[in-house]
Amino acid sequence: MKHPFYIEKPIFFDPATGLAECEAPPLERRYSNMKNMYLDETARLRLEQTGNDVIYRFYELGVPEKESDLAYGTSIVYPGKVGNEYHMTNGHFHTILDTAEIYYCLAGYGMMMMENPEGDIQYKEMHPGEAVYVPGRYAHRSINLSNTETLITFYVFRGDAGHDYGSIKEKGFRKIVVEKEGRWTVEDNPRWQS
Ligand code: ZN
Repeated sequence: MKHPFYIEKPIFFDPATGLAECEAPPLERRYSNMKNMYLDETARLRLEQTGNDVIYRFYELGVPEKESDLAYGTSIVYPGKVGNEYHMTNGHFHTILDTAEIYYCLAGYGMMMMENPEGDIQYKEMHPGEAVYVPGRYAHRSINLSNTETLITFYVFRGDAGHDYGSIKEKGFRKIVVEKEGRWTVEDNPRWQS
């Protein structure tokens, strides 16, 4: 019996690049895909117009969206900043809100920013070898805190959890992470509105 590729044999995820040897190419998000996601929209637009590099890549392996299945893959956030705000993913809630996720850091130095609808905020630094547990009900976003290294994490979540990007696209997260005097600091997002 022929199984889907992600069952048929192990998938090699290169821990140095995060890229997988498999049939499904990673999805990518460039500066042009993140309009209004960073505080400094002028800086984002300038980066879009001068190369429009990839900010991050991640895998969607096509695992069935069933409660009994597990979606998994790597997330790869390249180093850089938009203005003084570190490169990050869009971030999302799960459509089935009360479903958790595990991120295991393979390389680089970053942060998982999390917040629930009631406004509780959790943020955890990520170093290679560390697992971060994102509890159910928390929106989550990966942020690359290094100016030189790529942040690579491996994630697993319930197959039918789904992604809800809508509310984040409208309001962002309550907190942003910016560089000040050479190190990261968490600040209120002036554009966030309840
Ligand atoms: Zn998720």
